[in-house]
Amino acid sequence: MLNSHPGELPVYARFPVRPSRGEGCWIWDSSGRRYLDFYGGHAVALTGHCHPRVVKALKAQAEDLLFYSNAVPLDVRDRFFDLLLRAAPRELDKAFLVNSGAEANEQALALARRATGRSRVVAMEGGFHGRTLATLAVSGIGKYRKLAAFSAAGRDLLERTDLCPFGDEAALESLVGEDTAAVLLEPVQGMGGARAAGRPFLEAARRICDERGAVLLFDEVQCGAGRTGAFTAAQLYGVIPDGLTLAKGIASGLPLGALLVGEKLARGVGLGDLGSTFGGGPLPCAAGAATLEVLEEEGLAERAGRLGAFLAEELSSREHVREVRGEGLLLGIVLDGPAKPVRDALLEKHSVITGSAIQAEVLRLLPPLTAGEEEAETFLRAFRDVTA
Ligand code: PLP
Repeated sequence: MLNSHPGELPVYARFPVRPSRGEGCWIWDSSGRRYLDFYGGHAVALTGHCHPRVVKALKAQAEDLLFYSNAVPLDVRDRFFDLLLRAAPRELDKAFLVNSGAEANEQALALARRATGRSRVVAMEGGFHGRTLATLAVSGIGKYRKLAAFSAAGRDLLERTDLCPFGDEAALESLVGEDTAAVLLEPVQGMGGARAAGRPFLEAARRICDERGAVLLFDEVQCGAGRTGAFTAAQLYGVIPDGLTLAKGIASGLPLGALLVGEKLARGVGLGDLGSTFGGGPLPCAAGAATLEVLEEEGLAERAGRLGAFLAEELSSREHVREVRGEGLLLGIVLDGPAKPVRDALLEKHSVITGSAIQAEVLRLLPPLTAGEEEAETFLRAFRDVTA
């Protein structure tokens, strides 16, 4: 069977897997073949595939009210706001709901420009923030920046972006100026190869932004919502930005993104300044509320921290492994050669799905936070076999 529909624009390199069912860390195709999903449905299956609590909440919500926009208040949306703001850093006490990570980042950049009256952004080499024009232009990955360059507006945004080597405090000092609206970074880069910025760099970024009147933005679309071992990496490292974005797993697979802001970005935002038809709709909010309840009740963030540390320790002494980096369950296994043959063999021989990164030698792991020892051992056995 073809990997993409003939009528579909051929933009995705797809795994040769056609899942028809999922449960926890596992998915099945229609022939009954079972796969261990250490790619986590693209870092989205935070509570595992089809967590019963999420499915139940969705079924109930679908029967009650499929949709109404932000033109009306909704109990289910208020419930999600309560849970979200309870889990988030207390300094970030206002949120705006959207449909995706890119959209959340787009709004974060817009609010930063508006709050400061400045237009430049300092972003990180290796950073990825989405596929809208403004987010492509602040990527630190060449192929995405090129996509922004097709239009005059994109070229203008590219010219207003300064790229900082990730983790380089001295470079950041020299790049943030009086015309810098925002410093934007992923505390743990995803596509950039599961690289953690580290507490000292984040603290320096906070200080530099405060000194120069710039806004600090954390893109936690991939690393947030429990994956690093705390609800946000901001809380894990104790460095609180002015704006923080979440998406991917916060509704376990329903399209939901959130921009969380503190006083600096919330000030002056009023009627009509932001908007989205689908953002914060009842179904994503029902799934989001169930996801946040599961995260808390099952202690998934702590669990992710523990399992991530176990996997990192087990893998780092393995043959052909140069380094294991990342945080919690956003891990990058740096191999001594290209990762592709290892990924292919994991999939073909052991039915284990893993991710890649911009560095050819990095194998990226993004399992559901519900993964346990059994899944970890299954992965480690398969990895040992294909790297032997
Ligand atoms: N930011 C980060 C760190 C991401 O990893 C991604 C997606 O991979 C995005 C933003 C974009 O999110 P979305 O695809 O939901 O727009």
